[in-house]
Amino acid sequence: MDVRLEGLSKSFGSNQVLKSLDLTFPERRFVTLLGPSGCGKTTLLRMIAGLEKATEGAIWFGGRRVDHLSPGERNIAMVFQSYALYPTMDVAANIGYGLKVRGMAKPERAEKVGIVAKVLEIAHLLARKPKALSGGQRQRVALGRAMVRKPDIFLMDEPLSNLDAKLRTTMRGELRRFHLDLQTTSIYVTHDQLEAMTMSDLVAVMDAGVVQQFGTPEEVYDRPANLFVAGFIGSPPMNFAEVELGAEGGRPVLRLAGTALPAPDHFDLAGAPSRLVLGIRPQDVSVAEPGAEGAVPGTVWMTELIGSERLIEVEIAPKLRFTAEVKSSVRCALNAPATLRLDPGRIHLFDAATGQSLA
Ligand code: ATP
Repeated sequence: MDVRLEGLSKSFGSNQVLKSLDLTFPERRFVTLLGPSGCGKTTLLRMIAGLEKATEGAIWFGGRRVDHLSPGERNIAMVFQSYALYPTMDVAANIGYGLKVRGMAKPERAEKVGIVAKVLEIAHLLARKPKALSGGQRQRVALGRAMVRKPDIFLMDEPLSNLDAKLRTTMRGELRRFHLDLQTTSIYVTHDQLEAMTMSDLVAVMDAGVVQQFGTPEEVYDRPANLFVAGFIGSPPMNFAEVELGAEGGRPVLRLAGTALPAPDHFDLAGAPSRLVLGIRPQDVSVAEPGAEGAVPGTVWMTELIGSERLIEVEIAPKLRFTAEVKSSVRCALNAPATLRLDPGRIHLFDAATGQSLA
């Protein structure tokens, strides 16, 4: 079932936290709401769940308008950051609780709980109490409780944030796998871009109560719509510098810290503003021979080994540093001269005044 938001706004007093959102979460897809703390992700999820009323606008599940319905009438299941398991009940009772409340008979309940427990690989834990479980196991019980009811829509609010880094990585893969098996429309809130990029079919990047871009992980990574998305997605973050659009020998160039870079072919710069921001990801910057065309000279400011790669931060103008992510075998001495090459095909350009991408 798809979920459609129509002119959806929310204010708390004079604080408008969601600004007229129009968005469709397609049926059977896993969609992430990604954005910094306070951008309105949780508020939006709670409105879809029916835990928060809209100030304006409508919410539709398939062809049914739901914003006047209580949470219980929406057939959704929500998994929170705190798993909120019932401490006195064992795992089986925790998973089956929602079915019991709906009056399902014990044998049928036990069968459904058994199936879900098997999928989640917690069948051997059914008789345990929550306090005798690890964080990851508790998280699975919480998921089981949500899954067993066969909801139309799954809503998840940072469900992995209480787990340690290793378990989070494992659970990411498992959640993705569950989704592929169950194919329930899922909306997942996180501020962790890696989580969003690895798990989702689609990502809605939010800032200040507005969806800045809605697309596949590849789209938001490769073709960020504006400076906010470009800077928020990707690690280490994209390098940015103001550049001036000029011409040399009849060809357009981008003037970056005293270097004239040939303007990449993939931009139509006719009518472009002269003040631009150039963006390039560290993965698309390499260390080059001095004097190569389009090479940017500088001084090594910092280097950092990150496993098989090395980050080299090079000062290309006072207070302007670009990071290159290179093989760990590339070595540079601190304060030594270094020359950077920006892959022309991977350069992003933004209007410095509006922040919008030129592509
Ligand atoms: P986080 O990742 O920190 O949870 P978020 O993106 O989920 O952030 P929300 O929790 O949706 O953000 O909050 C958005 C804004 O709405 C914040 O400024 C918050 O202070 C405000 N807000 C949320 N709930 C209420 C409330 N019940 N009353 C007043 N203001 C609220």
